[in-house]
Amino acid sequence: MNRRFDCIIVGAGHAGAEAAWAASRMGARTLLLTMSRDTIAKMSCNPAIGGLAKGQIVREVDALGGLMGLATDATGIQFRMLNRSKGPAVQSPRAQADKYKYKDYIRQVLENASNLTIVEATAAEILTKDNAVCGVRCLNGDEYAAPTAILTTGTFLKGLMHLGEKQWPGGRLDEPASNELSDSLRKLGLTVGRLKTGTPARLTGDSVDYDKLQTQAGDEEPVPFSFLNDRIEREQIPCWITYTNEAIHKLLRDNLHRAPMYSGQITSVGPRYCPSIESKITRFADKDRHQVFLEPEDEAISTIYCNGISTSCPADVQGDAAADGRDTAGEDCALWLRD
Ligand SMILES: Cc1cc2nc3c(=O)[nH]c(=O)nc-3n(C[C@H](O)[C@H](O)[C@H](O)COP(=O)(O)OP(=O)(O)OC[C@H]3O[C@@H](n4cnc5c(N)ncnc54)[C@H](O)[C@@H]3O)c2cc1C
Repeated sequence: MNRRFDCIIVGAGHAGAEAAWAASRMGARTLLLTMSRDTIAKMSCNPAIGGLAKGQIVREVDALGGLMGLATDATGIQFRMLNRSKGPAVQSPRAQADKYKYKDYIRQVLENASNLTIVEATAAEILTKDNAVCGVRCLNGDEYAAPTAILTTGTFLKGLMHLGEKQWPGGRLDEPASNELSDSLRKLGLTVGRLKTGTPARLTGDSVDYDKLQTQAGDEEPVPFSFLNDRIEREQIPCWITYTNEAIHKLLRDNLHRAPMYSGQITSVGPRYCPSIESKITRFADKDRHQVFLEPEDEAISTIYCNGISTSCPADVQGDAAADGRDTAGEDCALWLRD
């Protein structure tokens, strides 16, 4: 393989996929380095695209010829225009995608793109000459030359995972961290910092008693993300709404010392305001319940994302919370799980 390119992109998440697509369409000989082809455009947390402030960005990316809007229109399972009751300036499109179909869509487009070479490798070092980028060296020793390198490494640089008292290096669940690249950036004099984020437990779709939940339907006439599409024909899947209850709050309060957000194990700040359920029951101690949106992660509803209860609590506490929700649920609250 010719190892000389005009542009090297490191990472194939949302950002890397768009960068690779844009560079290759502009005629640049582009190399996309990804740890694995299977994780191209993998959604890290909930499989949602857009939302307040973010929907506009997706539309801008689409107007510039990007992929996200098209992929969402092709694989979305629920579309909603947020803030519909308010003026157009603050309305924002949001959709949930089938997370497997979304990444397959993007992967297929990239694998068929002209000027784009995809290589499965982990970038370990930015190579420089005369104080300018001249290439990238990978963990396996392979080197690629280019005058431009675009880093879109997401949460992977020296990533550290926390689950209760347990800690281990990782970029995302079951994926390795990228340790060497941040050392290389540091050596080049760049500042490297740490941010935190969180995620909730997932439910298997057939463990939920949907009859006891409030249904949240998508828009009757879904509005596409992409300006290239006029309408969405696919059938929409609902989401559901439920609530935490006092028994769950007590369990969480009793175990706060085991939650790394409170034990001092995590000190970094989040990139945005997205409080964990531990934070909610502490900051809003007067509330006897908090809303939970149950959002399907795929068309078959094989798993469900529990939006609103991201947590750093250990697995045994999360399991007990689910059981408490089922055992003590009132008519209008709780995580309604089948026995
Ligand atoms: C648990 C969790 C919860 C999150 N919650 C939210 C949320 O609620 N809302 C939100 O907007 N965002 C959330 N995020 C952030 C989320 O990561 C980003 O929104 C989005 O995925 C960023 O896209 P990206 O392309 O920048 O990075 P990512 O999607 O993280 O992709 C980075 C890619 O780079 C690859 N890579 C990394 N290092 C190397 C290397 N050295 N060599 C080769 N490949 C490499 C990885 O394999 C990966 O494919 C969350 C992330 C996590 C992990």
